[in-house]
Amino acid sequence: MIELTEVTKVYAGGVAALAGVSLRISAGELVAIVGPSGSGKSTMLNMIGTLDRPTSGQVRIDRHDVARLSDAGLSALRASRIGFVFQQFHLASGVPALDNVADGLLYSGLRRSERRRKAAAALDRVGLGHRLDHEPHQLSGGERQRVAVARAVAGDPAVLLADEPTGALDSASGAGVMQLLRDLHTTGTTVVIITHDRDIAASLPRQLHMRDGHITQEVHA
Ligand code: ADP
Ligand code: MG
Repeated sequence: MIELTEVTKVYAGGVAALAGVSLRISAGELVAIVGPSGSGKSTMLNMIGTLDRPTSGQVRIDRHDVARLSDAGLSALRASRIGFVFQQFHLASGVPALDNVADGLLYSGLRRSERRRKAAAALDRVGLGHRLDHEPHQLSGGERQRVAVARAVAGDPAVLLADEPTGALDSASGAGVMQLLRDLHTTGTTVVIITHDRDIAASLPRQLHMRDGHITQEVHA
């Protein structure tokens, strides 16, 4: 499903955020990425999510070699196969939950009525079927993150990537969001979660520890 081979990423200024990472994640896995701030976790997730291209090395997603895809091809791969959840939710303010989720399907080729139907189903799936008309400011942090998860999975992606999804939440809301991600994994989605939280990481079946742009340790629970 996901294969990184000797991937490096050097940012302008010469920072090697990834210093030669090789990694395979199979379909249906649930994986935690842990490590100190600045260790390259987000950079690696961006590589897996094809949000950025490596400086060297190979990234293969779903058998596609990212280097061989045009920007349009990459966008299409992302839109159809990958869902993202971020620490800060990234919802559009002043926009009802239903539209926040439905707008995530704008590039799916589906007609508007179908986008809204799928969005409502996704919100129902995350326990927010009664909050379709609520705007982000009318929702709690945990509910906002649930909307973000609904948006990420509305198009039935094969892979869900979450960068510190509980980082801005109190522990009870965080636990709820984690349970949601576990449920999605149970239904077959491949899930990769960056977390600072050692307890959350330890509760997941596979943990990759990062430091200074390397995977330094891998633990299977
Ligand atoms: P983490 O998510 O583990 O905190 P990041 O992947 O965000 O780490 O960052 C890894 C390193 O790359 C850090 O030293 C960071 O400052 C640097 N970095 C990240 N993004 C950029 C960027 N867009 N431009 C320059 N340096 C960056
Ligand atoms: Mg980060």
